[in-house]
Amino acid sequence: FRAIASHDPQSTAIIHSKSAQRYTYGELLKDVEDAKVQLYNQLRSISPEAIGGQRVAFLVENGYDYVVTLLSIFACDNIAVPLSSAFPASELRYILENSEAVTLLSSRKFQDKAEETLKEGLEHLQRKPVLNVVEKRRQGSGHDDIQLVTLPMNKGGMMLYTSGTTSRPKGVLLPESVLTAQAQSLHKAWNYTPRDHLLHVLPLHHIHGTVNALLTPLFAGSTIEFMFPFNVDGVWERLAAPFLAEGQSKEPITFFTVVPTIYNRLLGSHDKLDAPTQEAIKKALAPESLRLNISGSAALPTPTKKSWTELSGGNVLLERYGMTEVGMALSCGLDFKDRVDGSVGWPLPSVQVRLVDSDTHEVIQIGREIEKDGKEKEGEIQLRGPTVFKEYWRNEKATSEEFVPGKDGGGKWFKTGDIATRRMVDGAGNSGQDWAKGPMYFIRGRKSTDIIKTGGEKVSALEIERELLPQVAEAAVVGVASEQWGQKVAAVIVLNPAHAQTGKGGKTWGIMDMRRALKEKLANYKIPQELKVVESLSKNAMGKINKKSLVKEIFGSDA
Ligand code: ATP
Ligand code: MG
Repeated sequence: FRAIASHDPQSTAIIHSKSAQRYTYGELLKDVEDAKVQLYNQLRSISPEAIGGQRVAFLVENGYDYVVTLLSIFACDNIAVPLSSAFPASELRYILENSEAVTLLSSRKFQDKAEETLKEGLEHLQRKPVLNVVEKRRQGSGHDDIQLVTLPMNKGGMMLYTSGTTSRPKGVLLPESVLTAQAQSLHKAWNYTPRDHLLHVLPLHHIHGTVNALLTPLFAGSTIEFMFPFNVDGVWERLAAPFLAEGQSKEPITFFTVVPTIYNRLLGSHDKLDAPTQEAIKKALAPESLRLNISGSAALPTPTKKSWTELSGGNVLLERYGMTEVGMALSCGLDFKDRVDGSVGWPLPSVQVRLVDSDTHEVIQIGREIEKDGKEKEGEIQLRGPTVFKEYWRNEKATSEEFVPGKDGGGKWFKTGDIATRRMVDGAGNSGQDWAKGPMYFIRGRKSTDIIKTGGEKVSALEIERELLPQVAEAAVVGVASEQWGQKVAAVIVLNPAHAQTGKGGKTWGIMDMRRALKEKLANYKIPQELKVVESLSKNAMGKINKKSLVKEIFGSDA
C-alpha cells in the first residue's frame, strides 16, 4: 500500500460525507508518515520487539483517522487488527486476547470503551495490551519534524475475523503480500480508477468493507466517501444530491458495494421519498453515472436484483462471492450479459478454483458437470493462489483441517465449505474480459447448514429461499433433525407487508399458500414441511443469519 505514494497528491483520497471534510492523497501520505513515527515510538516504549509482525488492535470510527491508523500500522511492519465499536467489551476482549495484541489504539471517541475493555479479563495474555489514544488529525497539522524511520517490510498485514456466522469468529492472518494480491486481482477485474468515487457504508472490520471498498480503491487512487453510521435516507440523499439543484457541488457516486440486506432496505424506503428526489435517484443509479453496483457477502435474492434494475433504468447488480480467508474468489463480469441471475460468475484473476465432490472427494472436471440422469453435479469450492490466506491465527488444527494437498505440485487447496455447481450459460462470457469466460458458478450454500440432506436427497436451502422470496419479505430455509428423513426442510419467514395484517383476520399467508406457490417451481421433497412466521430474522454485522442458532431457537433442536 505504498502504492498511495504514486497517486496525484492533489487528488481526493477520503471524504467524510456528513461534514464534507476532504483529504487528498498528499495529505494522507504525510499523515501516515507522521502517525508511523508516533506509533513507532509508542511501540518502542512497550518493547523493542513490538515492531515487526506484532498485532496492533485499533478502535477508530470509519473515516480518515481509521485509514491513517491502518496504514501507519502497515508502515511499522505490524499486523493491523481492526475492531468494531459495535462489539461489546467481552467481544473486544476475545479479539485482544486471541490476537495477542501488543497495543490497543483508540480514538478519543472510543477511549471510554477501550478503557473499559482493558479493565478486566485478559489474564491469559503474557502482556496486557497498552492503550494509546489516536489524536484527531486535521488538515494542515504540522509534519515538519518527521524523522524517517525505515523498516524492513515483510511481516506486516491484517488480521480479520470471520463474520462468525457459523461459529466463534476465527482470526485470519492476511500478510501484506496476500492483501496486495487481492487488491491487484479486484483492480484488474473491476477496473477501479482515480475517477471512481465510492460511497462507503460498510463496517471496516470485515473483508468486504476493508479490501473491496477501502484498500483496493486506495491502491487504485480512487476517492472513498465514508458515510458512517449507515442510514438509508442518508444514502438516498447522497446519491441524489448531484442531480438536484441544491446539491450540485457533490460528485456523482460511481461505485457502490454493499450486502443484499442493504439493497433491500434501500428498496424498501424508496417509495417514501419525494418526487424530485426519486427523479434524481433515477439519474444517480443509471449506468452512465453509477458505473458499478455490487452485491456480496450473502446470496443476492433475484427479486432484489430485479427491483434494483427497474429502479435504476437498467443498471444490473454485479454479484460476487468471497470470504475472509481468500478475499474475492468469483465474480460476475462488467458486461451486463455477464451478470446472470443466481450466478456468482467466474474465478477472478489469479484465483484458481476447483469443485470437489463431497462424497467421493473427486475433482469434478470442467465439462463433466452433468450426471447421467441429467442432474448437475455439485461440489465444494476449493481455492488456491496468491490471494489465499496461509493460516488461522494460533489455530493449527483448523488450518490443517481446511487445507488439502494438491496432487499436481501446485500447492495446497483451501476448502471453503461452500457448495456450488458450474455450467456454461448461453450469451454470457463473451465480453473479452480474459477471466470472465467459460462455465459460470452458482452457489448452493454452506455445506454445514445450507445443504440439507432429506430422505437421501441433497437440497440447497438457497435454491428454496430464492423461490420463496418473491412471496415473502425474508426467508431462511433450514434443515431440522428428523427421525424419518434424517433432516426435514423447514422455512422461517418474515411476511410481506401485504400479507402481514395480523389484525382480526390473522395472518394471510401460511403453509398452504407456500405449497401452492412452490408446487410448480420445486420438486416435492424440496418444499418445506414446516413453516414458521417470525417478526424479524436476526442478522450479524454483515447481514447474515446464523442458521444453527436459528434452528435451536425456533425448532428447539439441532440442524
Ligand atoms: P464464519 O466463518 O465465522 O462462520 P462467515 O463465513 O459468514 O462466518 P465471512 O468470511 O465474512 O464469514 O463470509 C464468507 C461466507 O459468506 C462464504 O463462505 C459464503 O458462505 C458467504 N458468501 C459470500 N458471498 C456470497 C454470495 N455471493 N452468495 C452466497 N454466499 C456468499
Ligand atoms: Mg466462514
